[in-house]
Amino acid sequence: MPKNRPMTENPAPLSPLPPGSTIGILGSGQLGRMLALAAANLGFRTHIFSPDGFPDGSSGHSPAGQVAHAETVAAYDDLEAIARFGDTVDVATYEFENVPAETAAELARHTRLFPAARALDVAQDRLTEKTFLTSIGQMTAPFKPVDTLEDLGAAASEIGLPAVLKTRRLGYDGKGQMIIRTESELEDACTAMKGAPSILEGFIPFDCEISVIAARAHTGATITWTPGENIHRDHILSATIVPARVSDKTIAAARAAAENILTELGYVGVIGIEFFVMKDETILINEIAPRVHNSGHWTEAACTISQFEQHIRAICGWPLIPPGRHSDAIMYNLIGPDIEKWPKIAEMEDVLLTLYGKTEARAGRKMAHATRLFAKGSLHSKDDLPLTL
Ligand code: AMP
Repeated sequence: MPKNRPMTENPAPLSPLPPGSTIGILGSGQLGRMLALAAANLGFRTHIFSPDGFPDGSSGHSPAGQVAHAETVAAYDDLEAIARFGDTVDVATYEFENVPAETAAELARHTRLFPAARALDVAQDRLTEKTFLTSIGQMTAPFKPVDTLEDLGAAASEIGLPAVLKTRRLGYDGKGQMIIRTESELEDACTAMKGAPSILEGFIPFDCEISVIAARAHTGATITWTPGENIHRDHILSATIVPARVSDKTIAAARAAAENILTELGYVGVIGIEFFVMKDETILINEIAPRVHNSGHWTEAACTISQFEQHIRAICGWPLIPPGRHSDAIMYNLIGPDIEKWPKIAEMEDVLLTLYGKTEARAGRKMAHATRLFAKGSLHSKDDLPLTL
């Protein structure tokens, strides 16, 4: 395979990468772990790039490193290590969207990287993301860039209060954001951002939150899974109900939006797209994640193909296959001390339990998930679903 190629945005379609090839994965958490396991099922080897080694720096500590064929332990900004890593793999991907731009560029000089750098550019910065989405005809909350208190005052007058102030970069699970309800809170909110470039978004009184997991192949073929309905606790995803309890019209609109985004990005791989659904059935995109997504974990239990295997297929130039959903499902995240329930969950006959191999159950840390299966078509009209296990 050619090395030290110039970085290209959309490399020519691959012929299918044969089993036995090596897939590089940047990031070593549970998403990397599940990608590595899916890759192994298709006969691939995986090499993880992880900043998280044993205290002596050795490999095999991280959730992904425990199940991969090789793991490089180095910092993401160690470009020499990235170059060496890139030279050992046949294709590379990532499990998180905050891959530094220089790291992605260096990796793409040494191997093929999917999804390509454009997806990272768009997803890393909430302003770029929302500007891109509106430019392709998708709807989002109203938004304005904010760098100073003056900008914030002007944005608040234009958008109205309440509104949500978010850092443009590096926010997730509600981190780096706050609700502003009255003008008297503007100054404190601005101070709390500590000068980080931000955006103000209109506060959306949504009816529910849904997400679509979708994939695009090198050929341009796309597939979407049916949307799931997401329930959050303390800003962290707590459960995903599949299918989302929304109208067929909303389901079709969300799937069409996902296809539009994949096509406009020239994307290769799996993407997660989060939406707010309004009472009048309007859908607004909250954010896009250029990777496999927590709200897609149910696919491994309720479908013939998981989001992880579909991602591996896409980046390796294999054909995508239809989701083949055979059941309704509720996926529960086990967060922090929830993990203590594993012996009880392990006894449940209709539940698939997946543990991430993490030893320390810190508050807010995703430790495992469990997907409970239900007969297909049985969840749609229910409003008293069990939202914890
Ligand atoms: P985010 O980090 O942008 O995904 O936001 C985390 C959660 O905060 C979302 O899942 C929503 O529940 C809530 N949220 C974010 N932005 C808004 C908004 N503009 N209006 C209302 N709720 C929001």
